Amino acid sequence: MRQTMVAGNWKMNLGPEAGLALAGGLQERLAGRTLRGEVLCCPPYTTIAAVAQAAKGQPLLLGAQDCSDQTSGAFTGQVSAPMLKECGCTHVIIAHSERRQYQRETDDLFVAKIDQVHAAGLTAIFCFGELLDERKDGRAEDVVKAQLAGVLPRLQAGNPENTVLAYEPVWAIGTGETATPEIAQQMHAVARNQVAALRCDEFAAKVRILYGGSCKPSNAAELFALPDVDGGLIGGAALKVDDFMGIVDAAEAVSEG
Ligand code: PGA
Repeated sequence: MRQTMVAGNWKMNLGPEAGLALAGGLQERLAGRTLRGEVLCCPPYTTIAAVAQAAKGQPLLLGAQDCSDQTSGAFTGQVSAPMLKECGCTHVIIAHSERRQYQRETDDLFVAKIDQVHAAGLTAIFCFGELLDERKDGRAEDVVKAQLAGVLPRLQAGNPENTVLAYEPVWAIGTGETATPEIAQQMHAVARNQVAALRCDEFAAKVRILYGGSCKPSNAAELFALPDVDGGLIGGAALKVDDFMGIVDAAEAVSEG
């Protein structure tokens, strides 16, 4: 059985002070618990060091929301995967739809960034998902397959341990409109089959596929119980201790069967 993951994506919210407060609240609720799944929070770069203090050791893991496609050098404004590792990060989100949309990032860049993440010994969380128009046009499956095909076969060192996938339908992100369990399971199954075709059956069976898009305590249990959903990538609900812990508890309940 695949281990669940609940990852909080704080986006461009919470400076060091507020981030420390949230991480402290999470750590308080997690302290002394033995978790079956992994729990991760991904603060903005400038908040990572503060959160690393509160999250020291297990069970709260630390990730970043992006990284450079370069290791070091004259790349003003960029932050490299080795730097993130030095700050205590174990995971890096790559290809979030907001980076696809606002930074116009492309498959070539995702491949280079994920290679950097892997070379630093970190785990990449690779995001993909269709736009509302693409779904309305009946192209959701093709879009998702193409997003996976543009990246997965080209990774230098990708394996099911250092790579996590996150299906995030763009129409569900921050909108309050969550994918129905039927849509989530269907799209996750499409993604897993595509991974099998692009890599191999073993990779597909082992790789975790998270769901993201208006996931909250009230719908997490239903989503996480789906056969091809292995946890969640959480935006808005990751900014409140009670909401995030409600989602973590839903994942733990699924893991315990
Ligand atoms: P949301 O964001 O939970 O606020 O919809 C999810 C994400 O963008 O990862």
